[in-house]
Amino acid sequence: MSHPVALIYSDAYQGYRFSPDHPFNPIRLRWTYEMIEELGLLAPSELRGPEPASDEALLRVHTPSYLEEVRRLSSGGAVRESSLLYGLGTEDDPGFPGMHEAAALAVGGTLGAARAVASGDLVHAFNIGGGLHHAFAAQAAGFCIYNDIALAILALRDAGLKVAYIDIDVHHGDGVQEIFYRDPDVLTISFHESGRYLFPGTGGVEELGAGPGLGTSLNVPLEPFTDDASWLELFEAIVPPALRIFRPDALVTLHGCDGHVLDPLADMRLTTRFYWRTAARLHELAHEVAGGRWLGLGGGGYELLRVVPRAWSLVWAEMRGTPLPEETRVPTAFNRRHQPPGEAPLPDLVVDPQDLVPALDRQGEISGRNRATLARLRQISPLL
Ligand SMILES: [Zn+2]
Repeated sequence: MSHPVALIYSDAYQGYRFSPDHPFNPIRLRWTYEMIEELGLLAPSELRGPEPASDEALLRVHTPSYLEEVRRLSSGGAVRESSLLYGLGTEDDPGFPGMHEAAALAVGGTLGAARAVASGDLVHAFNIGGGLHHAFAAQAAGFCIYNDIALAILALRDAGLKVAYIDIDVHHGDGVQEIFYRDPDVLTISFHESGRYLFPGTGGVEELGAGPGLGTSLNVPLEPFTDDASWLELFEAIVPPALRIFRPDALVTLHGCDGHVLDPLADMRLTTRFYWRTAARLHELAHEVAGGRWLGLGGGGYELLRVVPRAWSLVWAEMRGTPLPEETRVPTAFNRRHQPPGEAPLPDLVVDPQDLVPALDRQGEISGRNRATLARLRQISPLL
């Protein structure tokens, strides 16, 4: 499977930084890039830098007054009462100098990749700095300022392509869902920890789309402490059949790795095997149903050093057609450079060992509840 692919990355992504102690830390992108390079997974021709998205592009998704407020805070304006209406100046999304430029660059990386996939210049692309699925038309949320995914989907739609968006980040892909909720040509599928326990609280099975788009939103809220086996069981029961019925011309996929057992913000018990397996399945499905057109994005992931670089190296290796064997070791130099003194040793295998996460006594009950969610979805979704 040899065809043009690109990894979108530049050190300029380091500018997307809310504050020194904010959990959304772009250093994870640098470390991912380093690991990919040191694993020998990056030919010079495969690396592309992002170009900032223009105002014209941003205004296809966002309102002029929202853009104005982002720019005002970006150039040093103070937070005021009305900033909060736009979700800005909050704990999750405080303003910071250069915010507009940093966000426009992350978004532009995804948009450029989407245009290249739409034109056939690239078959697959992976923007590790993209995946800002919580941003709404006039509101920042969940560390997301502009919605790169929505811009990318519109670029693919411009080329006449039907798009399926598959989100395996541990949080509900609420911004993307809302923007395309009434659109019959965009299918959104989000797997996430149930909104009863986790931000943003939405993403129940009954959210199926509206108007002409009824049936083209699918939500799979999962129980806390879900493991690889149960999540993969639902993924397999839902994604391939839904895609075969919907028949998209392109896949946009979000590989947020905050469902990993070591991630500090959520409660799931996944290992990097899950991101390895889902990348392989999405790759196969892209070729089976979508003419190979596949745009992958990063997303969440707050275990910056022990999880994100490994999870996304696995996704990228799969995408370029050189999937990593199970026994692949993290490059020694990487661990030597980054081992924090006095802490547990960094993982030495890219694919976590199967027994990393011992089964809980309650694992059967958790899987059972997830199966009940699947049964409910089968009753109400026209795609299953
Ligand atoms: Zn997330």
